[in-house]
Amino acid sequence: MDVVVSPQLQAVGEPSKIIPPILNNSINNKPNSYAASLIHKQTTGQVTKTILKPNEVVHGIPTLQFTMEEREDFAREEGLHQAIVVKVSPNAPQLQELRTILPKQFGVKGHCLIGLLAQRQILVRLDQYEDFVICISRSYSYFSKKGKEHQVRVFPWTIGYNPKEETSMAAVWISFPSLPPELFARHALMSIAEAVGNPIAIDKATQLRSRPSTARVKVILNILDKHQEQIRLKYVDGGTGKIVEQLQQVTYDNLPLYCNQCKHQGHDEYTCRILLGKEPVTHDEQVEYEMDATGVMEKLQGDARDYLNSKRASQLLIEGPGKNTISG
Ligand SMILES: [Zn+2]
Repeated sequence: MDVVVSPQLQAVGEPSKIIPPILNNSINNKPNSYAASLIHKQTTGQVTKTILKPNEVVHGIPTLQFTMEEREDFAREEGLHQAIVVKVSPNAPQLQELRTILPKQFGVKGHCLIGLLAQRQILVRLDQYEDFVICISRSYSYFSKKGKEHQVRVFPWTIGYNPKEETSMAAVWISFPSLPPELFARHALMSIAEAVGNPIAIDKATQLRSRPSTARVKVILNILDKHQEQIRLKYVDGGTGKIVEQLQQVTYDNLPLYCNQCKHQGHDEYTCRILLGKEPVTHDEQVEYEMDATGVMEKLQGDARDYLNSKRASQLLIEGPGKNTISG
């Protein structure tokens, strides 16, 4: 485990249409930092010039255009393809302390870069795919510091992430009951799962082939999307040209609710305290309230259930990486 502080790069002169590549020795980086390794990779090849994107003045405002493919490439270059956002409770320790606490909390084995994205929102870039999957599976957890309990919630960082609203993207387990056992093969299973979301992990029983009745995959999806309940599988006989179709059922495990009123995960408009005219509560209080009120797992919704699920997350074996696309 090695925590690296984001280096502050110095501005290098006037911007121009063509800029030379940054040279290694011009930056006072820690040699083992993630940023340094990226810069090293970029500069060890032949020296090439970067052609900058043109801008066009539209209604008096210089305007630049980026495609989603370009943004995905930039995200990868910035180490954001394996990034999470950690939301901490209002009285959480300072960033410097969190840089030590969070990797321990999540059991991060590789390197990670930890920085403040917005108030109470910590952007964590992980260089090991396995660390990324483990972190994203800990949607809800707590740590103690100086006798105080602090809450941590984890969200996927995706292109289009808006720190002013809680993201509607979530990592969710999906199951394919009665999927033909030959389609448990990684390539087949990840392809089928991609019809629902971005697949990031296959569960232990699926990998060990110990539960042939159901395959289970963790995907990052948008809670607000229409959730497909069926996927059409077509089997083609190359010899006769005969095609057999089969509808495969998809089930979602603990799909979080999302409130479009206050832009929060964990409840919907029907149970929104703001819409019901009640005082909004912290998520901390909400979990305790719901757990006290019911004490029954099945009756819990959203956050509280996620919290209990996170306690079971350690049973799950991680497989990756998937196609690992990033979308907003
Ligand atoms: Zn709400």
